[in-house]
Amino acid sequence: ERTDKKAYEEAQKRLKMAEDDQKNMLPELRKQSRRDYLKKRESEKLEDLEAEIMDDEYLFSTEELTEREKKELEYKRTIRDLAKDYKKAGAKEQEERKNRYYMPEENRRKEVPQRDLELEETPMELGGEQGRWEEERLKTASLSFGAKKEREQGMKQEQEKYQLILEEEEMIDFVTTAITMKGTRSEKDAPALSQAEMKKQSMQEVRRSLPIFPYREDLLAAINKHQILVIEGETGSGKTTQIPQYLLEDGYTKGGMKIGCTQPRRVAAMSVAARVAEEMSVKLGNEVSLVHDCYTNTLSVTVPSSRLKLSVLLSSSVIIIDEAHERTLHTDILFGLIKDIARFRSDLKVLVASATLDTERFSCFFDDAPVFRIPGRRFPVDIFYTKAPEADYLEACVVSVLQIHVTQPPGDILVFLTGQEEIEACCELLQERCRRLGSKIAELLVLPIYANLPSDMQAKIFNPTPPGARKVVVATNIAETSLTIDGIIYVIDPGFCKQKSYNARTGMESLIVTPCSRASANQRAGRAGRVAAGKCFRLYTAWAYKHEMEETTVPEIQRTNLGNVVLLLKSLGINDLIHFDFMDPPPHETLVLALEQLYALGALNHLGELTKLGRRMAELPVDPMLSKMILASEQYKCSEEVLTIAAMLSVNNSIFYRPKDKVVHADNARMNFVVPGGDHLVLLNVYNQWVESGYSTQWCYENFIQFRSMRRARDVRDQLEGLMDRIEVEVVSCQGDSVPVRKAVTAGYFYHTARLSKGGYKTVKHQQTVYVHPNSSLFEEQPRWLIYHELVFTTKEFMRQVIEIESGWLLEVAPHYYKSKE
Ligand code: ADP
Ligand code: MG
Repeated sequence: ERTDKKAYEEAQKRLKMAEDDQKNMLPELRKQSRRDYLKKRESEKLEDLEAEIMDDEYLFSTEELTEREKKELEYKRTIRDLAKDYKKAGAKEQEERKNRYYMPEENRRKEVPQRDLELEETPMELGGEQGRWEEERLKTASLSFGAKKEREQGMKQEQEKYQLILEEEEMIDFVTTAITMKGTRSEKDAPALSQAEMKKQSMQEVRRSLPIFPYREDLLAAINKHQILVIEGETGSGKTTQIPQYLLEDGYTKGGMKIGCTQPRRVAAMSVAARVAEEMSVKLGNEVSLVHDCYTNTLSVTVPSSRLKLSVLLSSSVIIIDEAHERTLHTDILFGLIKDIARFRSDLKVLVASATLDTERFSCFFDDAPVFRIPGRRFPVDIFYTKAPEADYLEACVVSVLQIHVTQPPGDILVFLTGQEEIEACCELLQERCRRLGSKIAELLVLPIYANLPSDMQAKIFNPTPPGARKVVVATNIAETSLTIDGIIYVIDPGFCKQKSYNARTGMESLIVTPCSRASANQRAGRAGRVAAGKCFRLYTAWAYKHEMEETTVPEIQRTNLGNVVLLLKSLGINDLIHFDFMDPPPHETLVLALEQLYALGALNHLGELTKLGRRMAELPVDPMLSKMILASEQYKCSEEVLTIAAMLSVNNSIFYRPKDKVVHADNARMNFVVPGGDHLVLLNVYNQWVESGYSTQWCYENFIQFRSMRRARDVRDQLEGLMDRIEVEVVSCQGDSVPVRKAVTAGYFYHTARLSKGGYKTVKHQQTVYVHPNSSLFEEQPRWLIYHELVFTTKEFMRQVIEIESGWLLEVAPHYYKSKE
């Protein structure tokens, strides 16, 4: 009796706790995504309970159970059911909340919006794991072969052909865990327009066919009514290309005002600007322009968000913060800035455009701004997983593409990789395999897309696929939401992306390939369902999706060096950064470190105000230490050299090529570039010789230098040189004298000084023991003082890219920093 009562009280307490939890959580609301938080808390509790019940049940199945234990189990079950109800109630509340923001009112009655990310569980078909994939293959075969007998025969032929092309052991086993992504349309609906059909239509008709079009009037009315509006819509619904034009047509550019639209990705900014200009039948650069090209005469502008200048903000009637869900550093900064500006500029309209992801967060941040939802059009997408993890995802991509190409019905393929190198490698592999297979397979057009790709090449991905051929677009994250490529039916997702990460302790920032988030994976899958029912092949296991991926991506502001951000904000006159209205504040120590470093570099004074030097540094889109180095080159009259070094450092560590079978040759070639003084000077020497060779590919090949890296360095250098005018630095050469160059490097990197001590080097700042990297030209020299570009930890803490200095220079370049130390 007593125990029963106790158990009951226990249960009551638990329930009460859960309720209190929810109440106490309210203040958290602004900081944390309420939805995520709730979901997590509730599912954790429920999972615990379920686990307990399962344990008990297992115990009871093997032993006789006492009355008391029976009762206890009963209570646990009751609680579980209560908790389930509770969870349901929570979901209902969220639904209500969602609908509250749904506007305009009439739309709700018209059409119930479908959430992008809802996954629908369907019962397993054909039992076996292989079932679905095999069934698909059969379906494919049956498409081309009608009658049953013929079909069977055809199937056999199909399979034989198929094995001829791809060896069985090199094929990938895909399984489906019986998950499809819900669509708002079914296969029976009229398919969306094919690309060829779209091309045939006039541009205006295409515009009218986009999902956003029926909501044009409602949207304009909502914008008129509210100062800040969050706009949510599926990728491809027309947010980016249409909204600026609607606004223009509605008179928002009267009196020379601009419509600004910020893009977090440079490539997307260019592509979108080009597309909008095309739709408006105007030349890019007049009415529609990228903001750094043109300030005058501009009706509508597309702004890479990293370049947004206050002047644009002030002369705009509307600012669209596009791709808000990406949460890039600059988008996040813009949120804070614009929220502030909107307070004293009541005539400024602010539109926050986002894919269907977490828009309640944006609403919350902007003081409960209403959310305008554009109902999406989406066909269902079947999701396949691999049976086992793939060791080499690049190879797996190539195999999957070919597998799809030979077994699946028409429809283009989109592959997500993490960066230029991977994409180029994948395209080369695909092209080579296709060449080998020759006429055995239909034509496969392989098209890359990444930030550094020349824009004429970029435009190619939008060209319609010729009949009989299949297009495969190999893209970075840019194709996740920023660019819409029509005609995609198949998506291949290895599940990785390149992410910046930052270690505030060491000040080290690195780009690393990491698993992408589940939110990303679902966006990627969604790309397959735009024109018809599609398929997404995930090159990871269903288990990995559930257990190894984060729910959402951590905002960039929380994993980056804030040096640049602090400079930018200070240059905009925002001094109190600790209290800046960040949507997700960066870690405190990162902010403090950034302030400290900028002070040491002389960009801030002791009051934390921007100095004249700091103002100039803010103009360069590079790390503050690097921009300090570039600015210092003015004083030492060696900007020519320093620009090259800056560019070479920015393509870090991918200059020298060392094939396994030619190690000796490669090392010899590398030795030939060595000059006294350190690695920076070696890099300079490599670049200069390459210039002398006429930027030759052959020269690179002969000298074991990676041509691609050199080409990138050249691009970076050109960009930087273009900015020298703005910061009034004359481009001059020091004519071979290394001292000025090394002094300029010291002026930027004195933070990274190390001094020879027994057994290695000690950093001046942290007295940390570090070593010269064996690849360095100074590996055997061991000078007394040196400066390193970066620290990497492999087998030991190694300094990579080091340069020899004299200790006296430290006082010369950073007296305020070093005086206090000695
Ligand atoms: P959203 O911003 O909502 O994701 P967009 O405005 O970027 O949507 O795209 C809407 C549609 O416009 C796409 O589905 C595509 O058909 C077309 N489109 C956009 N950019 C281009 C382009 N560069 N070339 C051809 N069509 C394009
Ligand atoms: Mg868009």
